[in-house]
Amino acid sequence: MRIDIVTLFPDMCNSVLGESIIGRARKNGAIEIECHQLRDYAYNKHRRVDDTPYGGGRGMVMMCEPISQCLTDLINKNEKKPHIIYMSPQGTALTQNKVKELSTYDNLCILCGHYEGVDERVLDEYVDEQISIGDYVLTGGELPALVLADAISRMEPGVLSEEECFTQESHYNGLLEYPQYTKPAVWNDRMVPDVLLSGHHANIEKWRNEQSLLRTAINRPDMIKKYKLSDKDTELLKKYIKK
Ligand code: SAM
Repeated sequence: MRIDIVTLFPDMCNSVLGESIIGRARKNGAIEIECHQLRDYAYNKHRRVDDTPYGGGRGMVMMCEPISQCLTDLINKNEKKPHIIYMSPQGTALTQNKVKELSTYDNLCILCGHYEGVDERVLDEYVDEQISIGDYVLTGGELPALVLADAISRMEPGVLSEEECFTQESHYNGLLEYPQYTKPAVWNDRMVPDVLLSGHHANIEKWRNEQSLLRTAINRPDMIKKYKLSDKDTELLKKYIKK
């Protein structure tokens, strides 16, 4: 998988993507991520990338031409046309299912907006989909692009170690993950649940499944409504959760 990020702030993206698990995965070649300075594609006199909005009003709008030049360059450089995403508060909400879907592409290109956003015409011309990381507005698309790139990268083979397997985690199968504990066994008079110290693998798995179900029902009733409950699951929820 290759991800190209088109941004006015590549250093901001690189500093985040150079750290920890994703930084390691980039170094060992499990994932390829390149950040491109949009200003390098502004061939006008002052290397301008934005201008005032037609119709008046506040702020600046990112111009078509530098974005078009950059995206054309990326399309020509790659064997396969990248799937082009524009990060936008007006886009489809990002979910784990969307991340799974996007992780099937060989090549993604993520465009980060700034200021008041991007001239609509260049979006119409190039962008395959718009994605939002939530119903709030940030100053730029860099943080959303980093969120998306991280979520997709950790699903790529070789990015996470086996112990860090993502299929056990929250949202992957429609539930939240069970609670986690580490040493010491007693902290501030709080005990780790006995079952986790028992070494009995079947009981531990049963406890974790139940905890996962219960905390999803309590924290995210919207998720439990969509989850296909077995008769056993329904019984468990009836026992512990009062309506
Ligand atoms: N004027 C735009 C609007 O009202 O829809 C908001 C522009 S915002 C200040 C600047 C840029 O930040 C956007 O072009 C987009 O790339 C990014 N952005 C802001 N909030 C976002 C969100 N929730 N999800 C994804 N991208 C976001």
